[in-house]
Amino acid sequence: MGHEQDPLLDNPAALTAFRAALLGWYRKHRRPLAWRDSRDPYHVWLSEIMLQQTRVEQMEPYYSRFIRRFPSIAALADADESDVLKMWEGLGYYSRARNLHRAARLIVNRHGGRIPDTREALRNLPGVGEYTSAAVASIAFDRDHPVLDGNVMRVLCRLLVVETDPRSGAGRQCLLGAAERLLARGQAGDYNQALMELGGRICTPRRPRCAVCPVATHCRMYASGADPSRLPLKSRRAPKPHYQVAAGVIWRDDKLLIAQRPAGGMLGGLWEFPGGKQEPGESLQECLVREIVEELDFSIIVGEHLISIDHSYTHFSITLHAFSATYAGGAPRAVGCADWRWVVPAELDHYAFARTDSRIIEHLRRCWE
Ligand code: SF4
Repeated sequence: MGHEQDPLLDNPAALTAFRAALLGWYRKHRRPLAWRDSRDPYHVWLSEIMLQQTRVEQMEPYYSRFIRRFPSIAALADADESDVLKMWEGLGYYSRARNLHRAARLIVNRHGGRIPDTREALRNLPGVGEYTSAAVASIAFDRDHPVLDGNVMRVLCRLLVVETDPRSGAGRQCLLGAAERLLARGQAGDYNQALMELGGRICTPRRPRCAVCPVATHCRMYASGADPSRLPLKSRRAPKPHYQVAAGVIWRDDKLLIAQRPAGGMLGGLWEFPGGKQEPGESLQECLVREIVEELDFSIIVGEHLISIDHSYTHFSITLHAFSATYAGGAPRAVGCADWRWVVPAELDHYAFARTDSRIIEHLRRCWE
């Protein structure tokens, strides 16, 4: 796109036809999803938060369970944070759950329990950024804001042949300008969901299904005959670092020790088997002994290796090596963690664990059977 006339963006008749084709397809083929049918702002907001970094198929059962447990914003605001985290267990990116809970309390205290209906007011809620505020304002309240998630960016890059990485500043500006002009004003909720769904089901990253695409006649990439999966362009990123991590399942008589991660940090508020990152020149067993002293100020004797688990986070990945260990002296203190407990195995279900630690528990249960 440049300053020359664009055959779609600068042509009112083409714009009208494009919107009609997209909306017509969506209204006929849209997936039945619980939060869409209600348009209840609480449901829309919750679904948008859960869908950040998570696929629809993975998120749906969590959404249903969450709504059953916390059927209203008031119920969510009233809950303990530990209960909210427990319902989020396994979904990852736990700051989403903590922000959702804080936001529910703010909505009850400052907005009389009703979700604000403007983008500006929505943005003042914890965990609601540029994308989520536009999505909730348009889907729940039909406010005229375009959304740009990964699916929409891919569709627009192909539709208009945008040869700039949409995650760069210039690429984003270019797409935002185009998205504003394409938007079906007055029907922004359906229009945004239609574009998201088109990107999720038809204009997919690999092998887009152009032959059945409702907007193919408006698509410049399709008209050019080039392979659409070439776009969007991606600038090279530095590879993610990978860390070796040791964790201890530490026994004292018939109880084992669990520690709670500090509230402000990554996976904050969740429980785990304590441990940490291996330092250069250190064995995993030495690493675990050192980490327990730094985190809880007591001594252990490291026993057998239990399981190793690979896990990828947004900015790095780890291999977590879990070891059995026994208490060897000292009084545990929460030095580098928020809290700690000795629990019998049956009590593990009462705490919310990060995904890697849940896998350690599954492994332990298989061994105990
Ligand atoms: S025609 Fe193909 S490339 Fe163009 S929007 Fe449709 S699926 Fe995507």
